[in-house]
Amino acid sequence: MSELEGPLKDIFDVVIHRNPGEPEFQQAVHEVFETLTPVMAKHPEYEDVLTRMCEPERQIIFRVPWIDDDGKVQINRGFRVEFNSALGPYKGGLRFHPSVNLSIVKFLGFEQIFKNSLTGLPIGGGKGGSDFDPKGRSDREVMRFCQSFMTELYRHIGDKTDVPAGDIGVGGREIGYLFGQYKRITNRYESGVLTGKGLTWGGSQVRPEATGYGAVFFVDEMLKAKGQGFDGKKVLVSGSGNVATYAIEKIHQLGGTVIGCSDSSGYVIDEKGIDLELLKEVKQVRRARLSEYVELRGNGTKVGTDGTLWQVPADIALPCATQNELDEDDAKALVANGCQIVGEGANMPTTPEAIKVLQAAGIGFAPGKAANAGGVATSALEMQQNASRDSWSFEYTEERLSDIMRSIHETCVETADEYNDPNNYIAGANIAGFVHVAEAMLALGVI
Ligand code: NDP
Repeated sequence: MSELEGPLKDIFDVVIHRNPGEPEFQQAVHEVFETLTPVMAKHPEYEDVLTRMCEPERQIIFRVPWIDDDGKVQINRGFRVEFNSALGPYKGGLRFHPSVNLSIVKFLGFEQIFKNSLTGLPIGGGKGGSDFDPKGRSDREVMRFCQSFMTELYRHIGDKTDVPAGDIGVGGREIGYLFGQYKRITNRYESGVLTGKGLTWGGSQVRPEATGYGAVFFVDEMLKAKGQGFDGKKVLVSGSGNVATYAIEKIHQLGGTVIGCSDSSGYVIDEKGIDLELLKEVKQVRRARLSEYVELRGNGTKVGTDGTLWQVPADIALPCATQNELDEDDAKALVANGCQIVGEGANMPTTPEAIKVLQAAGIGFAPGKAANAGGVATSALEMQQNASRDSWSFEYTEERLSDIMRSIHETCVETADEYNDPNNYIAGANIAGFVHVAEAMLALGVI
């Protein structure tokens, strides 16, 4: 991490002191601070605001007891960090994964503030989750866990307070169980309290697709700025969950070919193009490993054996799995293989060292805050539909998503130009997201 100077260094020192042992949170704060020097020089009045912005408005940690299929009591830890509500109710997903801890929830919640601000929609930033691992658990166990989790969480959320959604390990099944328990405890059909719901019970068209589609729309704008498109491009997409699946779908629709994807057990190379229906069958229906995809596909498809997915030559790379999954060596391999663009579908998947390598080589780099904002933006569209008891068509909703991604791209480019850092999408996204929230916080007084 590079050295900060002046007030940014002083504020960052306080962050380090207040949040010991939270490396992911410190990394996310540092990444934003690195780009704020010109803003602080122009607006010294933002110093106090930035200090407040680094301190969550509320952090909730709770016990989640539940009984497994063998009748044994299991205990997990639940989190909800309500980070910033200057622009609207806290908004951000829930992650169920054994790696979840306060540092990870805080890094995600902090990033969410700027991402939500960039969408231009009235939503604040928050994030939550649990160290519960849904993998290998029966539907009944997942239901009992979700019910116990919501039995505590329900008192903190509401359509005007805090609106959770899905993230890693939390898809339609989990949102259903969580919403069911909320409805049961409160005796209110308050659709707008959670997003990512099923279509027959208050969900929005395009919400499952939104993060992956949105990331591809964003990268498409970057390509258009160079007079190009996805047509004929070879693409790597890491992960094979929600974001990766729909990123692959949209890339194929736009004429690109996704030649490799991954899961936590490894990666596959499929030079003829990933067979999406088969991938969905293996990962979503069977909830199996990617090696099963290779067995069923044949066709010269193979499990990757050398290094990581990023060592495979391609024109575009979209990390869509998890944080810090693309490191310095991966970045060097991408550069050596002539990759032109890296777009973050996941949150903070690229390490700071890797970003430096990519930027030094002039590779277009789209940070997650901008590139994956389509998911939360469509969640906000779901909230709009719930508030007006309406439901929009797939085509209309996708058009809205595409407009939002185009506008975020424009904002990033214009802001980077304004602060004399052309083509730096990280600076553009951080500065534009920050200034919008900072102005609202100044207007609302010291709270
Ligand atoms: P899913 O749980 O649907 O999928 C996650 C995928 O990543 C799975 O294929 C999983 O593999 C893989 N994975 C997890 N850990 C690792 C690892 N250490 N190495 C390699 N692969 C790994 O989650 P989502 O698709 O929803 O989320 C992916 C990323 O996108 C996260 O960073 C999330 O925060 C971000 N994001 C998600 C949004 C959404 O709307 N869902 C919105 C904005 C950002 P396996 O199947 O083996 O578990």
